Amino acid sequence: MSQRPGFPIKLTQTGAAGPSVKASVALSARSNPGTPLATVVPRSVSVSGLGLDSGAVRARMVRKLAEQGVQDARVLEAMGQVERHRFVESALVNQAYEDTSLPIGLGQTISKPNVVARMVELLCQDAPGKLGRVLEIGTGCGYQAAVLSHVATEVYSIERLRGLHEKARTNLRPFRLHNVHLIFGDGMLGYPKGAPYAGIISAAGGEAVPEAWLAQLAVGGRLIAPTITPAGHQALVVFLRTAQGFERQVLEAVHFVPLKSGVA
Ligand code: SAH
Repeated sequence: MSQRPGFPIKLTQTGAAGPSVKASVALSARSNPGTPLATVVPRSVSVSGLGLDSGAVRARMVRKLAEQGVQDARVLEAMGQVERHRFVESALVNQAYEDTSLPIGLGQTISKPNVVARMVELLCQDAPGKLGRVLEIGTGCGYQAAVLSHVATEVYSIERLRGLHEKARTNLRPFRLHNVHLIFGDGMLGYPKGAPYAGIISAAGGEAVPEAWLAQLAVGGRLIAPTITPAGHQALVVFLRTAQGFERQVLEAVHFVPLKSGVA
């Protein structure tokens, strides 16, 4: 296990011009845009000023998310709170607040901030105040679970790769988020113990949404999952459970790592 990185000596400052709302949809259709949106402007940071400086960079990231169309104050607040640089490898800390996905080991990636914010916003849509219990499939490094912990009363997050489950545990420990429950297991089966959920969010994309997830969704709850559409590409799919059944909506194209069954 590598040591959690501190904040970098050289910070990356984001450029002034953020993409428009429309661009945010187009951006999420690409897995990782070749040209970073940011220009690198090194500046020095004293050890004692670490927290302060990472806060400033995060505030800039949040402003950009708002420019990109994220409107939910709860989500922007959560994105401003969670120190993303503590979830990535030391060598990548400089890119922690850029709008880019990053490798987290074992062939998996942490989604770019824009995609995390978009999905959490979809999850919170039409819910007054805090969400109740939510289930995340694909804990990865634990970043999104930390973001969710600010918008939901309880977060159950399940990961199929033991190495990442352990990494997330280590990453999250210092934050003392008592409402985050990490589970090692196959998320295809959901997690019946916490059901029914006010929200279910998958960080991995499958051919279809598993029946178990729909069964574990509360009436009034929302499920957000990257799924292969009949057209053959991956898109964000939203299910809203109503008293009558399910309403399904297909949104923008996305590129998530595959949903796999079993544990490893
Ligand atoms: N939310 C994560 C993103 C991790 S990438 C973060 O903030 O870092 C998606 C993760 O889904 C990977 O770690 C992958 O191992 C996991 N995954 C894929 N299929 C799964 C399954 N059936 N059950 C649980 N996790 C799964």
